[in-house]
Amino acid sequence: MKYCKRCVQPDTRPHVKFDDDGVCFACKWQEKVDSEIDWDKRKKQIQEIADWAKKNAKGTHDCVIGVSGGKDSTFQAMYAKEELGLNCLLVNLAPDGITKWGTQNIENLIQKGFDTLIMRPNPIIWKKLIKHAFYKYGNPVKPTEYPLWASSYIAALKFGIPLVIQGENAGLTLGVVEGVGDGDNALDVNLLDTMAGGNASEWKVEGIKLNEILWYQFPDKNEIKKSNIRAIWLNYYAKEWAYKHNIEFAKKHGLMGRQNHDPNLTGRLSPYCSIDAESAQIVNQLLKYLKFGFGFVTDEVCYYIRSGDMTREEGIEQVKKYDGKCGEKYLKDFCDYIGITIDEFWKVADKYVNKKLFEKDPKTGKWIPKFTAGIDFEEKNVVTA
Ligand SMILES: [Zn+2]
Repeated sequence: MKYCKRCVQPDTRPHVKFDDDGVCFACKWQEKVDSEIDWDKRKKQIQEIADWAKKNAKGTHDCVIGVSGGKDSTFQAMYAKEELGLNCLLVNLAPDGITKWGTQNIENLIQKGFDTLIMRPNPIIWKKLIKHAFYKYGNPVKPTEYPLWASSYIAALKFGIPLVIQGENAGLTLGVVEGVGDGDNALDVNLLDTMAGGNASEWKVEGIKLNEILWYQFPDKNEIKKSNIRAIWLNYYAKEWAYKHNIEFAKKHGLMGRQNHDPNLTGRLSPYCSIDAESAQIVNQLLKYLKFGFGFVTDEVCYYIRSGDMTREEGIEQVKKYDGKCGEKYLKDFCDYIGITIDEFWKVADKYVNKKLFEKDPKTGKWIPKFTAGIDFEEKNVVTA
């Protein structure tokens, strides 16, 4: 495992790219953000796209924005409405088991003056799929990403809305440039690693029929193109887009954070992320940590290091303290939700642990890292079973 020389991004992130000097592509993007891109020009370009959308709207709305009411979607929606003057249709894919903060935040955003389409997939199927994905991929939130992304495109097609505005191109901000690319085109969002094409047939399991999971199906790209629908990433055009900026912006507009937030229990520094469906998200980051050697705190500090809000050393300290942490309460909530015991959870999770990066403490039975955050790690004397 090698770390980026500037931030603390490890090369174990699937599809991440590094240059010959050992700098990750997310840091290379930050260089462009800070000094290369002509942001006035980009602002003009996105205004032209917005004006085109107003002219080409077949129904009443100019654009669709998928929202949870969290930090990013609050910025997206307000930017589209106030900066670009667009008449937006918000699409909210409501997760099963939404938290009370999640409910408050989506309501807070809608109250700013938006038409909103709330889509609520069948909760029995949702739960079955989360359980299935945990066993099959060690990634319980994988199926929830399908309708989350697909819903905006489905709404655009159904209502004749020419523009979809997505938030952050992970090709730019995480450096995973394969698949989604590094441009403004958000039509290829189904090529994200976790979406694997966006075919609902993947979830035709355990007696679930295809016509019960149509919201999990990413619409046909040809149909989208024929309908003259355009989809863009906002962070390609808006210089302000940044993890810290979006939190501060959304707070000013009424975003509520998790109460009694403790990074030791949530494995994240900020109380303002993953607040709508927390236990599955928090458990998923624990699993990500055990699979790849990094969790959500690594992602957060990388954002802060790149935006100049943290030094690399400060970031590494935070990663050492909190990365991969998941309180028993969240683990138990998750296990109760899918109807398994904590012992069964670990039986399954153990299979997904990267044994090159972790070893089991014989006394506690807990997985402990063999690596030290921020220091390139190569395993000696690998024993393969
Ligand atoms: Zn980097």
